[in-house]
Amino acid sequence: MQDFNTIINNIHNNLKDNVVKGVVASYIPELSKQDVNQFGIFIQHMNGENFSVGDAEVPFSIQSISKVLSLSKAIAFENNDIWKRVDVEPSGNPFNHLSLLELENGIPRNPLINAGAIVIADILCSQFKNPKQEFLQYVRAIANDQSIDYNLKVAASEKETGFNNLAAANLLKSFGNLNNDVDVVMDFYFHQCALEMTCSQVAKAFYVFANKGRCVNNKQHISSSQAKRINAIMLTCGFYDESGEFAFEVGLPGKSGVGGGIVALLPNQYVITTWAPGLNAKGNSLIGMQALEQFTTQTNLSIF
Ligand code: GLU
Repeated sequence: MQDFNTIINNIHNNLKDNVVKGVVASYIPELSKQDVNQFGIFIQHMNGENFSVGDAEVPFSIQSISKVLSLSKAIAFENNDIWKRVDVEPSGNPFNHLSLLELENGIPRNPLINAGAIVIADILCSQFKNPKQEFLQYVRAIANDQSIDYNLKVAASEKETGFNNLAAANLLKSFGNLNNDVDVVMDFYFHQCALEMTCSQVAKAFYVFANKGRCVNNKQHISSSQAKRINAIMLTCGFYDESGEFAFEVGLPGKSGVGGGIVALLPNQYVITTWAPGLNAKGNSLIGMQALEQFTTQTNLSIF
């Protein structure tokens, strides 16, 4: 096996003093407080080993990374029925985009854009009795970590400024693609985005997608075929209008969030999480993208 420790330490050293670090998201006011110099990498290998460098144990706001976790729970509940309400095509639009084209006939283009994730949030609000608590329990279970929690300040901050997301939810409601009250669904959505996790917790949670639906505790949460579909959606839709670029540069299914986290995985081999809060113009972590490109280029461990 390759020396992952040396490889990620070198990558971290090469990139940590980059003068160009990107810009911390400010449209959610709480996120603008993040320090642009933070940078962590964590690898969970499927042979049980893990590797870590930098700020890999510092909790950060996972934001859109949560959309994959909510999608997995919705698929576990409703299997193929969810595809009647949300499509699986890349959108090619920026992270903060809102247009009627994203919602043709009320069907969002994919579950990882905001409108699609809001439909998924609606499914979970219908399936769970106490959506926020039960979703948190699910994330804690797949990551095998009871300390994971919501950051309530981030959730409140997002609620105060989330006019685009509220507009998307209202549009979905007008098309008949939202069964619960807009306020209920959006309260859940803002909380799921405000989940706070470390690189290591995110890598452990996403192990389920690298391991054919079985989590770090070997419990089956989704089927192997459902894990395959989720990985395909991450590959094609996981990075806003930079999904093609991520596949081209890194070559792994993955998901980013505007908190600066990125998680990516090679099925049956490893999960890697990076966190560096400075974003590029497309809303993806600038240093994180570079770190992952260097990692798969140096190790030759991509899906291609
Ligand atoms: N909660 C954020 C929003 O809905 C998620 C953004 C993201 O990470 O893409 O705007």
